[in-house]
Amino acid sequence: MADHSRTRWSLALPVLIMLVVVVVYSVRLPQRELRPYTWTGFAMGTLVEITVYANRSAEGAVNKGFDRIGEIEQLVSTSISDSDIALLNSAPIGSYVQVHEDTAYLISSALEFARETRGSFDPTVGRLVDLWGIGTERASVPSGEAIRHALSGVGYQNLVLDEDKRQVMRNTDFRVDLGAIAKGYACDEVVGILQNAGIDAGIVDLGGNICVFGTKPTGQQWRVGIQDPAAPRGSYVGVISISSGAVATSGDYERYFERDSVIYHHILDPSTGYPASPGVRSVSVIAPTGIQADALSTGLFVLGVDELFEFVDRSEEIEVVVITSDNRVIVSSGIAEAFQVVKEGYTYEIR
Ligand code: AMP
Ligand code: MG
Repeated sequence: MADHSRTRWSLALPVLIMLVVVVVYSVRLPQRELRPYTWTGFAMGTLVEITVYANRSAEGAVNKGFDRIGEIEQLVSTSISDSDIALLNSAPIGSYVQVHEDTAYLISSALEFARETRGSFDPTVGRLVDLWGIGTERASVPSGEAIRHALSGVGYQNLVLDEDKRQVMRNTDFRVDLGAIAKGYACDEVVGILQNAGIDAGIVDLGGNICVFGTKPTGQQWRVGIQDPAAPRGSYVGVISISSGAVATSGDYERYFERDSVIYHHILDPSTGYPASPGVRSVSVIAPTGIQADALSTGLFVLGVDELFEFVDRSEEIEVVVITSDNRVIVSSGIAEAFQVVKEGYTYEIR
């Protein structure tokens, strides 16, 4: 008899312990999921920060995200000698070059944005980008003659893509530069990988190209700061609350050098060959995807205030925050309610 009750107890005890463990674990589980985890790295010449709301098993997906950014960089970097873009830029004029699917997609998108912005965004400015060297140690003001030469082949109409065959050709002597669009595309790709891995919510920041997805466990919207061009990094003029999509900023303060009290920055006007000087210090684009936000922030910067707002009025997908050289912050009406002012010293307008 004594033996039997001992057997019963020896069975009941582990079952009881297991029950307690299960109950405690399931009560604790939602709290564990509340935690954001952030990974940082360096890729595409910039700081990459990925934050996900998940448990630690998200690490595999995040690593896949970083790998994907590396893959895209290998295809489009102009400084990697066997990248698709480097090979295209050194191939004979008028002959097709075979490229990867991602490259073909990026070029196809770039051509679309170039058409939409009537060439303010133009992926054929590569020779000018090299000539100015802004952001590198050899940055200098080129001669007018050198600029005319670098400008002579520029024009997205001369970049020919056969998307089905994934073949690209330069019809004139320009160099392709996808620096104004590739990070936004990579941002979208990382979001796709995280979502496919079952991660509910997160934020991907590729050097200021920010993509968000899902709902934070707190139910609050994502808050993205708009950099004050005149203040150190991380100091904002305002904050935008969004529930999904992307925000990218192109600004004259991001990469520049100064000569004789003149600021030369990295956003070039493809019609003049000089840094664009449209009376704008920065353009932030809020869009459904990172690729749109990235390409259009660059293109709209070049357009200047009046033309860029005509573009925004025509577009159903794009909203903007524009900071002008005379200290105005102009917010497009579609995003005005989601914009919160956090700094004095600027005049705030809705348009
Ligand atoms: P972002 O920081 O996205 O505005 O991109 C700026 C980068 O894109 C520059 O560093 C150049 O590599 C390239 N770029 C400069 N001007 C243009 C332009 N008008 N259209 C397309 N790409 C440009
Ligand atoms: Mg851009």
